[in-house]
Amino acid sequence: MSSVNERAVSGVGAAQRLRSLAFRPERWPPFFGFAGVHLACLAAIRTGVHWNDVWLGLFLYLLRMFAITAGYHRYFAHRAFKTGRAFQFVLGFLAQSSVQSGLIWWAAKHREHHRYSDTPRDVHSPRQYGFWFSHLGWIFNQEAVAVDDATVSDLTRYPELRWLEKHYYAPPLALAALVLALSGWSGLVVGFFWSTALLYHFTFSINSLTHMFGRARYLTGDESRNNWWLALPTMGEGWHNNHHYCMASARQGFYWWEVDLTYYILRALAVLGVVWDLRLPPAHVVRGQREITAETKERSAALLASSFPADRIVTRLQAQYHAEARDEWRRTLAEALARGRGSLVQLHLPELPSLDDMRARACRMFARSPAMDEIVARARELLAQAVSQQLLHAPSAT
Ligand SMILES: [Zn+2]
Ligand SMILES: [Zn+2]
Repeated sequence: MSSVNERAVSGVGAAQRLRSLAFRPERWPPFFGFAGVHLACLAAIRTGVHWNDVWLGLFLYLLRMFAITAGYHRYFAHRAFKTGRAFQFVLGFLAQSSVQSGLIWWAAKHREHHRYSDTPRDVHSPRQYGFWFSHLGWIFNQEAVAVDDATVSDLTRYPELRWLEKHYYAPPLALAALVLALSGWSGLVVGFFWSTALLYHFTFSINSLTHMFGRARYLTGDESRNNWWLALPTMGEGWHNNHHYCMASARQGFYWWEVDLTYYILRALAVLGVVWDLRLPPAHVVRGQREITAETKERSAALLASSFPADRIVTRLQAQYHAEARDEWRRTLAEALARGRGSLVQLHLPELPSLDDMRARACRMFARSPAMDEIVARARELLAQAVSQQLLHAPSAT
């Protein structure tokens, strides 16, 4: 698994993103909300912890985790089922009471994640930007601010959803006030703030950990994985590789042993007529027989290539060349680049990993696939290309 966790070659991009973190006025509200919730948890030292508060916290955790998974994620971001405007509003209100910003922002960022999953344009890819950035740093990042309205026009056409988005702080304040009135200060701290902090980190772990650890059943062109130990506390969201393979499905645990509490509750709500038209994965999709697109192969190859840091290969290669040979090999590389990608791998670049090395890593990163040989060959081309470009443009060692 260590290879999966290796940082990608795009260290420059990561540094740029980290520099634009937080402390810009437009990111203060989520930053102070996030920090405030964690600090408020410490107030339990003064208020004490009572069993009633713990049960309240557990209830609020489950209620709001359902609103996040069924509402924010499966309904607003993916339209995996249908419901009426009243329940749509209830889902949005409850989800927003988890202090994770407005539903339109949440859905827009999540759609962006699927569009660019684990590429440099992904807003929270651990492959590209490391664990901490993908877990929470990205929320305070400048790039997290902008929402492309064209991607959420199905949501913005409802005035009540636009109202919720504009007043994103109203649901958590209303819930906190209700809890304070009913359960006092210890209820507020333990019941509301503790459960909100837990909701943060289990939700965030789907962005970070499920793209790092677990098992990939399907080839998805990214590093999404299935995790039973995250599926339980996140009410089914841990089946993340299933989800990336069939994102429109209301059901994320594809088999009976893949516990998916959110789906069970949605089934019960469907019986009651509260929701309907739950979308499910077709049988051939569950069997993994969906056609492997050229885009999936290309993205898988790019991911595999990026797991071998080109800059380290360049440093080792440069050490092997004498200054007087520099012009000669630069000319050779330029000619090979001009001839096309394939010719680069024919060059003698001794530090380039072998096809067998790359295949071994691909088997750890991705699900088994008939396209594996093609992906590995393409990844080696991409790596040779990246190394050659860097060799051509970097000053060589003497
Ligand atoms: Zn994902
Ligand atoms: Zn999703």
